[in-house]
This record gives sequence, structure tokens and C-alpha cells, in this order.
Amino acid sequence: MVWRRMFHNDPAPDESSAGDPEKPKRQIPPHLAQRLDIQAGEPRDPEQELRRRLARLRNQHTATLYDIEQGELALEDDNPWKRRVALLTEALETVESDYREAEQIEPGPFHQLPETPVTDFAVEMNNDVATVRLTAGTELFEYEEPLDWAERGHQVTREELRRVAGDPSLVVPADVPPALRPELQAHLDQSLFVLATVLRDRTLDEEPLPKSVTMADLAKPCPTCGGWTDYRGRCQTCARRSARLQELFRERDRLLNERAAEIEEQHRIAERLPLARRRHADIERQIAETEARIGDQPR
Ligand SMILES: [Zn+2]
Repeated sequence: MVWRRMFHNDPAPDESSAGDPEKPKRQIPPHLAQRLDIQAGEPRDPEQELRRRLARLRNQHTATLYDIEQGELALEDDNPWKRRVALLTEALETVESDYREAEQIEPGPFHQLPETPVTDFAVEMNNDVATVRLTAGTELFEYEEPLDWAERGHQVTREELRRVAGDPSLVVPADVPPALRPELQAHLDQSLFVLATVLRDRTLDEEPLPKSVTMADLAKPCPTCGGWTDYRGRCQTCARRSARLQELFRERDRLLNERAAEIEEQHRIAERLPLARRRHADIERQIAETEARIGDQPR
């Protein structure tokens, strides 16, 4: 045939042509293959086949028994699903009350700072390591990048600056009430660090440095809570509150989903009960039949 095809340039046989002995057999699903096998050739040992069938049926029998138990349990007034739903509802109530509490905005501490200039910005790059200097009032601050900044992949990850000179307690104005001084000092420390970081990043991006900055710019009031914001206008208290609210919102979502899943599972298992009972009865009949057929086998 091969030579004929070659010389006569016959078209290759259509792949769908029936009866082609070279065509691979279509894949038959295993459960059908098993049935076909039983029908096609008589098994060599019919009793062994029957015993195998009996073992399979007994496994199915146990499985349906379990389904029935679960279905009956799901219909009881007090059942594991309802108990879990009750616990999840309790947890939800706690999360919702925590959320309402976290939503409350406490007025932040504030004291207006003077327009004292923050000057003498200087950013030096030595071997790609930044040093930032600035003067707040009369206090000189210096920040350095740790030497161990790392190159990860193709991106250079810069480490946070560290204050190596300057004392934030010395820039807290004299007229600030004693009760506010520790918090303002911590705030100015953070805000000066943010300004130093802005100066470094603008230098790296070849952008112009800010022209005039005053102490007041380092501690403007937050539009939400009225407390101090840093040089970038970020309020730590409000940022923490938002993060907490987001976390509680995700937790509420998770609990709601989990509760819905419990309710759904209980319904599904209860709904399946009549089917499980029918299937169980059917398997019991098949077991009896198979046992009888094993008993009828010639010895
Ligand atoms: Zn705020």
C-alpha cells in the first residue's frame, strides 16, 4: 500500500475513516470499561469476581450509612452545624462592636508650631550611599543610609535613613504645655525623618528640593482627627485606625463566609437524606443478591 500511495500520490486516508486498523481506540471511561469487560469475556474466576463486587458494595454500604447518619444529624434541633453557626454569630457580634469602637475618632493632640525655618538642606551621595543634613531652628540634624542597603533582583532597595546627629527634644518650642511635650517630640522626630527621606528621594530622582520649609510644615493639623501630621501630611493615628478598620472588615467578611458555608453544608446534607436512604436500600438489595449468587457457585 505504501508504494502505491507514493507513486499514485493518493490522498492520505481521512483520520475519521471508520475501520482503519491503525486508528487508536477511543478512551473508554473506567466504569464502562469494567462493565464491558464483564460482558465481553466471562471472567476466569466468577466467584472471585463476585467477592470483589461484594467488597465494593460493602464499602458503599458503609459510605451511605455515614450519609444517612449525617443527614439525620443535620435535621436535629441541636446539631454541630447550628452550634458552629452560633459560635460564629457570637464572634461576628464581637468583631462588629470592635469595628464600631475603632470607628470613633479621638481628637489628636495639637499645638500650633511657629514658622521657624528649616534650612540648609544638603544631600551627599558617596558611593551611592546618602547622607542628608538639615537645620531646624538652630539644631543641625544628620541622617545616613545604613551601608548594607541591598540590590534585590534588578531593583535597588534603599534602607531607611537613620538619625546620626541632632536632638528632637531641642526643637520642641518653649511654649508647648508639658503634657504635650513627649508626644510632640516623638512627632517631630518622625516628621524630620520624613523630610530627610523626601530630600534624599528628590535628589535621587533629580527633582528640585523644597524651597522653604518651616517647623509649622512639620506639624500641620490632621483634617480628620486634628492631631499632628508629618511633612507628607500623614497622620499616624488615622493611619493606624484605618489599618485596624480594614483588618476588622476582613475578619467580618471571613466570619460571614464561614457561617454561610456552615448553613449551606447543613442544608445540603439534610436534603441528600432521602437519596442516601434509597441508595442504601438499593445497595443492601445488591449485597443480598450477590451473596446469594456466591452461594449458588458450583463447588
Ligand atoms: Zn488624624
